[in-house]
Amino acid sequence: MTAYLDHNATTPLRPDALDAMTEAARLGGNPSSVHSAGRAARGRVEAARADLAQALGAPQSGIVFTSGATEALDLALTSAVAAGARRVLVSAIEHDAVIEPSRTVMDHGAERAEIPVTADGVVDLAALDAMLSDDASDAAVCVMAANNETGVIQPAAEACALARSRGARTLVDAVQVFGKSAVQASDFGADYVAVSAHKLGGPAGVGAMLAFGDAPVAARLRGGGQELGRRAGTENVVGIAGFAAAATTAVAQLEQFGALADIRDGLEAAVRDHQPDVVIFGASAERLANTSCLALPGVSAETLVMALDLDGVAVSAGAACSSGRVRPSRVVMAMGADSVTAGSAIRVSLGWTSSQVDADHFITAWSKATARVAQRQPAA
Ligand code: PLP
Repeated sequence: MTAYLDHNATTPLRPDALDAMTEAARLGGNPSSVHSAGRAARGRVEAARADLAQALGAPQSGIVFTSGATEALDLALTSAVAAGARRVLVSAIEHDAVIEPSRTVMDHGAERAEIPVTADGVVDLAALDAMLSDDASDAAVCVMAANNETGVIQPAAEACALARSRGARTLVDAVQVFGKSAVQASDFGADYVAVSAHKLGGPAGVGAMLAFGDAPVAARLRGGGQELGRRAGTENVVGIAGFAAAATTAVAQLEQFGALADIRDGLEAAVRDHQPDVVIFGASAERLANTSCLALPGVSAETLVMALDLDGVAVSAGAACSSGRVRPSRVVMAMGADSVTAGSAIRVSLGWTSSQVDADHFITAWSKATARVAQRQPAA
């Protein structure tokens, strides 16, 4: 039996989402067709849009369905730059889905700067304040809602308020908070918010960009006029149905999610008892209930992840990239960790299928694996 503890990467599909997808798949039809099959598919997409707006606290008209948060973030950033942003300020701990497009905007003549974080992994608002001039109407500011590696909750609403008070556009990567904390998308006061289905129990490959107020959207994909001309391409009816169902259930089960903090805290206490020199990143900051980012400095994350996997425990290295290669975690380095410690960071993330049994399985496997690795890597 596997203890699946990698919910921040992808959380398993919820039964409600699967049911909604099966029902939507039976509809057939293209939402742009005018016949009855097309109208049924259109009806399904619009019902999902309404449900999602309700679950996430966003205006229905601002929802642009995409292929996931990566596309949503790219669309948001590109839209801000198309609307005149010439300086892009991104927090140092953003996901690559923000960091990489923020680099490409430089090809279009925009400048880029990183907002530092504190040792606890919290975006430094005083630093952001200093980086924003009194008139920052040529700037776009991007601060995530919670970090995917450490789970540290970020002052995204405060960052947006500060940025907006100087006239800047604002983007929030809220991928890791929906279904995990009671936040509503409108709480951020952002122009753009990105969300992804597979982080809350929907299918991978579908997400949304939420645009608020007068935030302009500059389409990246052109062709048919889908999504009010903001994102061309036949809608992923099945995925969108699963996304909305998962979001509705995830938000309804926030209390159960919050209770994961007890399991996570017990896991961290057990690990600390066993290895007092373990580093737990962001432990003194406010964190998502489900996430723990740990390092035994000098014990490579890659080795540990493989050893745990052999023992039936699935976790991630702090910064495994999509190719599966492990590099020192950029996030914990931004928090001041050295490259050895950053290369040892693993992420344990619980979710809606997790129980104490999984945590116990982890603790046993971790104790065995770290003892074995330590034997092979005697302390210098
Ligand atoms: N932003 C954060 C914080 C994430 O954790 C992820 C997923 O790893 C993404 C963006 C990208 O989301 P998607 O897989 O939907 O493209």
